[in-house]
Amino acid sequence: MSDNWFIDSELETVKSEYEKIQGATLDACVPDMVRISIYRTEYKQVAVCFIFPEDYPDMPIITEIKSKTMSFKFTTGLAQLCDEEVKKMLGEEQIMHVLLFVAAFLDENPLCVCSDEISWLKQNCLKQTDRIKLNQQMSQVIVKFKEGSYKMTFQLTVPDNYPFDNLGIECIENLFPADFHNMIKMQAIEIARKCVTPPIKPKPKQPKWKLTPSVKPVIEFLDEIFHYITKQTCALCKKAVLPDNPENVITEPKHELHADKLYCDHYYHYGCLDAYMKTPPFEGGKKCLSCNERIFHDKWKLPPTLIEKRWAHKQARQRELDEVVEFMQ
Ligand SMILES: [Zn+2]
Ligand SMILES: [Zn+2]
Repeated sequence: MSDNWFIDSELETVKSEYEKIQGATLDACVPDMVRISIYRTEYKQVAVCFIFPEDYPDMPIITEIKSKTMSFKFTTGLAQLCDEEVKKMLGEEQIMHVLLFVAAFLDENPLCVCSDEISWLKQNCLKQTDRIKLNQQMSQVIVKFKEGSYKMTFQLTVPDNYPFDNLGIECIENLFPADFHNMIKMQAIEIARKCVTPPIKPKPKQPKWKLTPSVKPVIEFLDEIFHYITKQTCALCKKAVLPDNPENVITEPKHELHADKLYCDHYYHYGCLDAYMKTPPFEGGKKCLSCNERIFHDKWKLPPTLIEKRWAHKQARQRELDEVVEFMQ
């Protein structure tokens, strides 16, 4: 027994009440230190350590929060909140109050599991026109991208067992043509999936797969692709592939100004690309003017020899027509 009856009595309170907190275990409960671990998920777990200062309980208890999984920035930030909170309790038993506060904080702020990723994104990735919003109640991160008149908004739902379980990805606003929009969403889903699922056949030279949090890579990708697409110019006519006003986006796939994406991630107008694909030389296949990669596209699936034949046929027809015209003159 210590010579401080107040502390002894508070230690008894902690021993009899800590179990009120879901997932709590008592690691130490002596006058030198009290330590209680709070477990929510494999990733979301903290140990709260208390040291009684001199003149306790008239002085605030010293709280330290440790976690093997959550970031130092998060645990120090939460400990600071505890320091503020405990000032309300001077002169009284403080430990259970702080523990309940920490447990409630973990439950009311499910996005605390990705707080580091969010602050990294705010500092290093998002442009001035982009916005990120957290909906703690729904455990959702909402990210809005803007460039000129174009906008794109994605809603990421962070699961309880993040980062082990898959992120929910929904596009709630997108002014791009539908095929771009679908492509962006599918790629984002794939990036998130690869963060939580090991490859079926690992490639020999690649570093060993390890589970990674997915909020950062998904938002980095969305940011990059959104700003990239809005700035694309057609490699043939050098004009923007998308109209200035998203209301004028062309949805008819064979319209002259329909924006088409190649596998190499370069963009063309349908009309420009169609003319290019049907004009010689055909040898070795048609190549992208931006990167010199061979062009593969669903709209021009014909083998080059057939395209060449058709072109020759078209030319012959034109010659015939020209001859007819000459004959008529
Ligand atoms: Zn063009
Ligand atoms: Zn290319």
